[in-house]
Amino acid sequence: MPAEIRTAEILAVGSELLTPHRLDTNSLYLTGRLNELGVQVLAKAAVRDRRPMLREWVRLALSRADLVVTTGGLGPTDDDVTREAVADALGLPLRDDDGILESIRARFRSRGLEMPAINLRQARVIEGATVLANPRGTAPGQWIETGDRVIVLLPGPPRELQPMFEEQVAPRLARRTPPAPLRRRVIKITGRSESHVDEVAQPIYATLGDADVTVETSILASPGLIEIHLEGRGVDPRQIDDLLAAGVERLTAALAPYVFSDDGRALEMVVGDALRAHGWRIAVAESCTAGLVLGRLTDVPGSSAWVVGGVVAYANEVKVQQLGVPAALLQEHGAVSEPVAQAMASGVRERLGADVGLAITGIAGPDGGSPEKPIGTVVIALSGPREIVKTLRFAGDRQMVRTQSVAAALDMVRRAAVSRG
Ligand code: AMP
Ligand code: MG
Repeated sequence: MPAEIRTAEILAVGSELLTPHRLDTNSLYLTGRLNELGVQVLAKAAVRDRRPMLREWVRLALSRADLVVTTGGLGPTDDDVTREAVADALGLPLRDDDGILESIRARFRSRGLEMPAINLRQARVIEGATVLANPRGTAPGQWIETGDRVIVLLPGPPRELQPMFEEQVAPRLARRTPPAPLRRRVIKITGRSESHVDEVAQPIYATLGDADVTVETSILASPGLIEIHLEGRGVDPRQIDDLLAAGVERLTAALAPYVFSDDGRALEMVVGDALRAHGWRIAVAESCTAGLVLGRLTDVPGSSAWVVGGVVAYANEVKVQQLGVPAALLQEHGAVSEPVAQAMASGVRERLGADVGLAITGIAGPDGGSPEKPIGTVVIALSGPREIVKTLRFAGDRQMVRTQSVAAALDMVRRAAVSRG
């Protein structure tokens, strides 16, 4: 019986991955698939095409994880050195594989070409490796068992790597992964800072899990959105699901009303569902976000059932002429003020014949701040089912202020809809 594979490390090989121009997406795909197979990813790295350094990374990864997966660096050119570096790390020789050589030759021949000499390198296989055929490219993959551990070499292009993993790696892994499944739940939160959320969640984390199920938690923060991820491992999937559900319930109760989803739905979907449930249609007047709220609302398929439209009221003339905001109100309170936001919300609702009017006006920066209304001051108003207005202060640059404003505006609609039952 070969030893079980429970942990993995991923090495994404390629100097292009260490520029700002190319993102390592292979490791995201692999992490998802490995998790589904019950394998936990301990670490991943993007590594330059440098043979001695890559050899050290391979050694280190193999010293910690049951499985090491490399992607990339299997091309025919001199810069691709993954095969050689792995052979170095394992202290094994490379041999030429006639079968691979013939299939690469045939691939070129089918396109009426001679195989260039440099492609010979792609027929080199680490001693003892199982060759993973690559019908979609020239570089075959390799599966190598070394003691209790396994190292898998996969090509870089996702369209070659993914089917190779699906067809040739996953079935081999499945024979060696523990029956312990891994299940995940995600709680999505808006309107609270990461530290606030963590303060409330920490004591609850400690209560999750029992003798049969271990639960790991992580927190992911981006502007206007915090996610708590719960990862449960055990033997019985039902037991894991029940335990995670209890954890989700406890966290949701403690973090209410800031939790907007625990089933994967994005905020705009939750808002859309709430509007549809009430039979409400919404219109939006946007100043500092200039259409971003409507963009999010209409990301949801079918949103024409609950979105009427909106007005980008950037200039004061538009606020007056298109939304009917009294000029005197703008004069007296300024464009970023609660009376103006309320007038925008009721104006857009009435003029567009909607049930709910939503308005945003604010100072996104970098200019336009003042001591009373610093950059990041945003006023959001809702009109219709209830009249609500809120002044908020967001931190960060223009982009972050706008993103947080959109989330806060959508959340105002959600809360108004939810509190109406
Ligand atoms: P290679 O096998 O190193 O010759 O990689 C060939 C191509 O695959 C690269 O030019 C990239 O376009 C793509 N690629 C390599 N590594 C990755 C990665 N980690 N994520 C996404 N694409 C990749
Ligand atoms: Mg490369």
